[in-house]
Amino acid sequence: MSDQYRTEIAGHELSPESLMMGYGYKPEWSEGALKSPIFETSTFTFTSAAEGKRFFELAYGLDDPDEGESMGLIYSRINNPDLEILEQRLTLWDGAEQGLVFASGMAAITTTILTFVSPRSVLVHTAPLYGGTDHFVHHVLSRFQVESVEWHDGMTPDDVAAEVGDRPLAGVLLESPANPTNCLFSIAAARELADRYRTPDNAVPVMVDNTFLGPLFQHPLKHGADVVLYSATKYIGGHSDLIAGAALGSDTLMARVAETRTILGTMATPHTGWLMMRSLETLALRMTRQMENAQKVARYLATHPKVDKIAYLGLLKPRDDGYDVYTAQCEGPGAMISIWIDGGESEAFRFLDSLQLAHLAVSLGSTETLVQHPASMTHAGVDPGDKDRFDVTDALIRISIGVENPDDIIADLSNALDKI
Ligand SMILES: *Cc1c(COP(=O)(O)O)cnc(C)c1O
Repeated sequence: MSDQYRTEIAGHELSPESLMMGYGYKPEWSEGALKSPIFETSTFTFTSAAEGKRFFELAYGLDDPDEGESMGLIYSRINNPDLEILEQRLTLWDGAEQGLVFASGMAAITTTILTFVSPRSVLVHTAPLYGGTDHFVHHVLSRFQVESVEWHDGMTPDDVAAEVGDRPLAGVLLESPANPTNCLFSIAAARELADRYRTPDNAVPVMVDNTFLGPLFQHPLKHGADVVLYSATKYIGGHSDLIAGAALGSDTLMARVAETRTILGTMATPHTGWLMMRSLETLALRMTRQMENAQKVARYLATHPKVDKIAYLGLLKPRDDGYDVYTAQCEGPGAMISIWIDGGESEAFRFLDSLQLAHLAVSLGSTETLVQHPASMTHAGVDPGDKDRFDVTDALIRISIGVENPDDIIADLSNALDKI
């Protein structure tokens, strides 16, 4: 193993947070530059025609790589050093064999799903889903005769299997915790369902959108998932300054997804890849502080008279729905808080318009606290009946806690709640 892939020192295993500063990169490649330069190039020169031919054989899966052989650099829609180094770093958090980065979270989700579905196959998905994913399943996949079955809170694998029947199952998509309600779904149960349909010709991947808790507080591959999906725009990017996505899993599944990405052209740019490497260096610091802040803020909000209901994983008690799933598959409560205030849209808007430190904006996982109104913003396009069923009401406000001083966040929320 060469230096850039060192993961232990004299038998001591290094943690991902320590490896984020250098893993996968060698300064000797770039005049000793400590940080990887941005490889702003569309194409890469081959040292010989035979080499070019061999790279393409591997890129298009026309031949399997020899032991230890890896595909060389070809063209930035297929591969680029910034993306490759970043992809290797991302695998460390989730214990994945291979990672792929994309132009957005939606690019990661749609490219991965398109890899596994076909007309008249069924995609099982948990509900509620992020608004964009919901739209893709119900308004885009449906046009290509890909069918969907909803897995909502309280359904067992038997219940879901009864709805799938004997149709071919293309995959199971879990969003847990769900955006915007923090509802949890069991990865082990999804695995049990997928295994009933799995055959040598049909992988039936369990895909988990891990945007809310990952990569720090939930590691789906360890609990039976096959693919982890991210909107890297959120915690991984973490500074509200980029749009990106990621998919992680086994070499075999990721090779199939990589082929789709090459053809759809949904990869991230080298500059975005470089920014994400910068972001990963402080990921553990940021997410830990955000989680600590969220615990303080949630404790404050839980007893506030204007707050009718609160959903924060850190407040789950043994008798609550979701507690067992939380203890089985989550390693921390993260920093996403949903509150249902006393009132409707006008009270919610008065609260939002009174914030002075927190920003009134969609997105989440950033250094600054972000607050939004899902029913009229991120989930505006969701079917009204579905909004009711999943409690995405006009009283719901979603808060993504940042790294500010927690007392300042509380003062801001408190002042705005007084204005309702
Ligand atoms: C934001 C988000 C997405 C979409 O990601 P983009 O980077 O905006 O394309 C998907 N899933 C969840 C849970 C999200 O929060």
